[in-house]
Amino acid sequence: MKHQRTIKKEISFSGIGIHNGYENIVKLFPKGDDYGIKFQKEESKELLELHTKYVNNTNRSTSIKKNNFEISTVEHILSSIYALGIDNVLIQIFGDEIPIYDGSSKIFTEKILKNGIKKLKSLKNKLKIKRIEVVKFEKSTYYIMPDSELKIEVILNYNNIISETSYLREISKYKDEISSARTFCMLSDIIKMDKANLIKGGNIDNAIVFNDIKLSEKDLNYLKKRFSINPKIDNFKIVNNKKLRFKNEPARHKLLDLIGDLSFLNKTLKGRIIAVKPSHKTNIKLVNHLLEKHENS
Ligand SMILES: [Zn+2]
Repeated sequence: MKHQRTIKKEISFSGIGIHNGYENIVKLFPKGDDYGIKFQKEESKELLELHTKYVNNTNRSTSIKKNNFEISTVEHILSSIYALGIDNVLIQIFGDEIPIYDGSSKIFTEKILKNGIKKLKSLKNKLKIKRIEVVKFEKSTYYIMPDSELKIEVILNYNNIISETSYLREISKYKDEISSARTFCMLSDIIKMDKANLIKGGNIDNAIVFNDIKLSEKDLNYLKKRFSINPKIDNFKIVNNKKLRFKNEPARHKLLDLIGDLSFLNKTLKGRIIAVKPSHKTNIKLVNHLLEKHENS
């Protein structure tokens, strides 16, 4: 993939946001060479360019903000856009959150591919990793090294509840191997988010929920009533009747998220990354590090 790309024609998505709980509409418009990726709130003239300086919140998902224009959960649609090699597109939003759908990027990826991708004249802007480096941010470690193409490996360990890896050797395998991996969380997170009023829709159908805590009888009854789930007091398992699509679905989803956050490079990355326990917050730090230390090296 040498040349810049855009989508062939306008695409529209609509669906519920995981945090706001109401319907949001997102439209993608084709754009020409070197336009980049930009967001537009309804018909407003002011655009929000994809840049780490606009990253506003990285707690569990990535949200961006410029002045009064804020959009939450941008990482899954951006993951599809980046993995499909789309350099130029306008993302118009009616609402303030990108729809969550099933918690993966399956719908975005399939719809963009079905509508078609258009090759443009200009060459892609690339960022090449030129030397081996180990970078640590908080609890995440990234091993970065030169390679002929983008290759990503993710290693997860969540208090021994989830311990697994995922490896994407070729970005062309993204649709089949990564895009349908759904987001996941721990039951303890659900309890915290519920208390902070972050699950307004009152359902947890958009994520795989793992039980990571020993519940009290009181918590157990509350959860059963609030979310129609049936966790056991001492059973570290998936609690919301989901069957995994892949044995290592959580690691694959973390890889999906990392690709979404790498879109903030605004460049096609050439190199290999092994990410140990990545998070949105540290992914964005990695992007800044790559832009600072590897762009013109
Ligand atoms: Zn995600």
